[in-house]
Amino acid sequence: MVAVPLLSETVNRLNLVKGHLQGHVQEPEPHVSTCLLPVSNPTVPFWQKDVHKLHDHRSTEQIPKHSDIVIIGAGYAGVSVAYHIVSEKSCADLSITILEARGACSGATGRNGGHLRPDFYGYIPTYINRVDAEAGLEIAEFEIAHINAIKKVIEKENIDCDFTLTRTIDVWCDEESAKQAKKAYDQMVARKFEYMDDAIFYSGKAAEGICGVKGAKACASYTAGTIWPYKFIMALVEILLASGQVNLQTYTPATSIRPDPRGGYIVTTSRGEMHANKVIHASNAYVSGLLPEYAHNIVPCKGICCRIAVPEGSTAPLLNNSYINRTTDGTLSYLIPRTDGSIIVGGAAKLFKPFQEQWYNNIDDSILIDSAKDYYENYMQRTYNGWENSGAAVESIWTGVMGYSYDSNPHVGVVPRWKEQFILAGFNGHGMPVIWLAAKELALMVTQGREFETTRLPRLYKTTQERIEKARNGRKEDGDIIGTGGFSVTKQ
Ligand SMILES: Cc1cc2nc3c(=O)[nH]c(=O)nc-3n(C[C@H](O)[C@H](O)[C@H](O)COP(=O)(O)OP(=O)(O)OC[C@H]3O[C@@H](n4cnc5c(N)ncnc54)[C@H](O)[C@@H]3O)c2cc1C
Repeated sequence: MVAVPLLSETVNRLNLVKGHLQGHVQEPEPHVSTCLLPVSNPTVPFWQKDVHKLHDHRSTEQIPKHSDIVIIGAGYAGVSVAYHIVSEKSCADLSITILEARGACSGATGRNGGHLRPDFYGYIPTYINRVDAEAGLEIAEFEIAHINAIKKVIEKENIDCDFTLTRTIDVWCDEESAKQAKKAYDQMVARKFEYMDDAIFYSGKAAEGICGVKGAKACASYTAGTIWPYKFIMALVEILLASGQVNLQTYTPATSIRPDPRGGYIVTTSRGEMHANKVIHASNAYVSGLLPEYAHNIVPCKGICCRIAVPEGSTAPLLNNSYINRTTDGTLSYLIPRTDGSIIVGGAAKLFKPFQEQWYNNIDDSILIDSAKDYYENYMQRTYNGWENSGAAVESIWTGVMGYSYDSNPHVGVVPRWKEQFILAGFNGHGMPVIWLAAKELALMVTQGREFETTRLPRLYKTTQERIEKARNGRKEDGDIIGTGGFSVTKQ
């Protein structure tokens, strides 16, 4: 286990001798850094079993001496913001370097659940209570806009990433939770938010017949998407490199950043220094390694996910919706079916939450989470009608590290203490319906100097000194990661 001590004390001995997959050998580059960095031997998720040809790519043998923009992290956030900059005609002269500590898309994005599911009534009521209805609505509409935006870019760029447009079904198996969920749902309907027209709630006997989950007491559905995130991001990487504007350097962690007296910043990496006019921090769970002021705001937290398949030669019972399932004891799992009949499912946070050392402030995605690692054996047989004799079994299981945010919202915008450094991080287990358009708006701030308030970003996403201080001075029990945060039973 790699628990994270005070970040300033963290000594992460980098010895990225290999890419994490066989046959991807990098030169040994022993380097000692005090920066919080990913471990070098992560578990291998199903999504990355066939490694993309650019996974270990370095555009040039040496890192560039200078780039207009340096992006830290080649996950969904880093790659999306680069894509939006490169797509803008007026930015054709800008040079961009993406520094990535491991292989491209090897972080949370390359190991998530593939669920593109905006929030309708889970987190939103909490934001309404904490701020106002408008603040909640802004977030819901922003997230929902991702479904069409992602569909459009996949069609425009002709990306093969198993994207489906589907219905997501929320399931509650506990009577009391089902009642609470209905209450939250009704309150949202009563607000007359137009987007709620797409959602429908079923209680009582009909629920089990509609969702297929044994013992379901209530269920609700609305439009969502499923995707192979690694394929999506790696296709974008291919487009970025073809543009000639982007230099990708994998296995090249940024280890410190300091202002250059002549202007801009000197970025130190494991392979030397480079100059940047502007820096974008898209390293999510690891962001406090370079920006220690975020240590209490964005905390690395582990999650677990797996692929379940039926024996070769047999056909899996059809599931053609994605799911959020809650058992009678409130254990939550997100689940997507794949066109090959297999299932991607993960979650089970309730099982490991009491054992903080297994997941909280923990960056070790090389090992499973002990208290949850066996939970998904026989999950389909236990959970779904018709799967009892399917022979479905866990085919692969992995962990990933997310950047959990103290107040549940991402941090987007200008880093308060640096004029030309930007942050796009802290997406919890929920980045898929947030990052693409947040990156688009951040790109405008970076390239056009736009103020946060003139973008389409929800106001609660803005990174501010006030948010930084609140987490820094607050008890972790009062934040959303360890505390309940006042979320209703609908929270994921
Ligand atoms: C198991 C699991 C399941 C999930 N399921 C879902 C889901 O179904 N739906 C959903 O919406 N969200 C889900 N999430 C969350 C989602 O994956 C994240 O919100 C999203 O991928 C974050 O993207 P990112 O680019 O910010 O972070 P990442 O993908 O983690 O990218 C950050 C990158 O920065 C690199 N890096 C770190 N430090 C440095 C440094 N100093 N120098 C250079 N590079 C550095 C890392 O190696 C990494 O590649 C899940 C996450 C996990 C772990």
